[in-house]
Amino acid sequence: MSQRVQLLRDFNLQLLVTSRRRVVQLVSGMVLSLLIVAGLHWLFSKSSPKRLSFPTRMPGGAPLHWVLKEIVLHPILPRHKITTTDFLEALRFGVAAWNTALKGCQAPRLQLGAPVDNLRKVRQDATSMVVLREGFWCGDEDNKLEHCYDPTVEAITSIYPEHNPGQPENGAVREADIEINAVNYDWSPDSQRANARNLRALITHELGHVLGLDHACNTTEAVVNKQVQNPTAPVCDSANTSGAIMYPHVTQNPTYPTPVPGGSEAELLCAIYAIWGARTK
Ligand SMILES: [Zn+2]
Repeated sequence: MSQRVQLLRDFNLQLLVTSRRRVVQLVSGMVLSLLIVAGLHWLFSKSSPKRLSFPTRMPGGAPLHWVLKEIVLHPILPRHKITTTDFLEALRFGVAAWNTALKGCQAPRLQLGAPVDNLRKVRQDATSMVVLREGFWCGDEDNKLEHCYDPTVEAITSIYPEHNPGQPENGAVREADIEINAVNYDWSPDSQRANARNLRALITHELGHVLGLDHACNTTEAVVNKQVQNPTAPVCDSANTSGAIMYPHVTQNPTYPTPVPGGSEAELLCAIYAIWGARTK
């Protein structure tokens, strides 16, 4: 069985580190790989000076990186909280936004795959899935509904990186699953409906996590509660977060037009895959 490790300092991203059955303290040991940091720092310095982007890192510092050239996301179709058409439209929006932003670099391409049966469990099974939770905001392994998710969380993206410190495979990803909270929140594709949140923005943000990005900044709540996951990220303010798709609460940004991946987000992912791209299959 895999070890499930929640990134305590992230509202909607969790890593499930599987190999060697080892619990990983994801919030400690930020020992950085000098080579990677130097390379990325150089690229940062050449990109947008105002808005920074950050990779999601393994405990030793290696950024998460896919070892597949295509990430195929299989939707579980919703039944009553939103139409299938609207759900698929929002997914297509996010997929197209990232594929456009990353065009021409070695980052993997996103692809919308065939829907899977809605009785299928979301867990590490070599199939990446996207599900809108409508009945209970709980994981599929939580049979007795005893450990349901935090109701204030809009979505959870689970990533399953290899944990082999010091090896090239450290941080290698082959699967990710996205669960969206439609129990506590109402969604529409571009928040056209009153009180509905922007599903396009949420999905595009979660796909940023899937591809390997961390949040663009730390919320003041995270700072006050000493739950800062990435100490190198700035505190969220209008200058560094306006319009950023990796803003922690992207659905609270002005919702129209829906924000799309920006220059520094695309540049960071392209830089990561320029280093690791040769290993993709
Ligand atoms: Zn997030």
